[in-house]
Amino acid sequence: MILLNRRGFASYLLCRHCGFTFTCSACSVAMTFHKGINKLLCHYCGLAKKPPSRCTDCSSEYVYYVGEGTERIESDLREIYPKRASPGSIATPCGTYATSIRYWATFARARSICWSVLR
Ligand SMILES: [Zn+2]
Ligand SMILES: [Zn+2]
Repeated sequence: MILLNRRGFASYLLCRHCGFTFTCSACSVAMTFHKGINKLLCHYCGLAKKPPSRCTDCSSEYVYYVGEGTERIESDLREIYPKRASPGSIATPCGTYATSIRYWATFARARSICWSVLR
């Protein structure tokens, strides 16, 4: 069991040249890349943007994806355990704050064990 509180392929898109992160123009929070739909999404207001191939600040082409998201973990797991990881094995946790706290508390130990196995 692996729990991750970030949806999407990567946490955010970062420019390696100037350090610029791609944020939502409305909320100023980092937008998350979703590989499945090839879009950057703002999880606060739902704004979707096409991922830029160049930095919008300095025009550098050295933009890359930083962080872990459920889609990336899923594709990594498929490589590590091709037979075990199935598309249904990773679900996006959802629900209220209280629900997710319970979720985390219940699986916190299992999660750390999983991580130490994977690393
Ligand atoms: Zn937004
Ligand atoms: Zn840049």
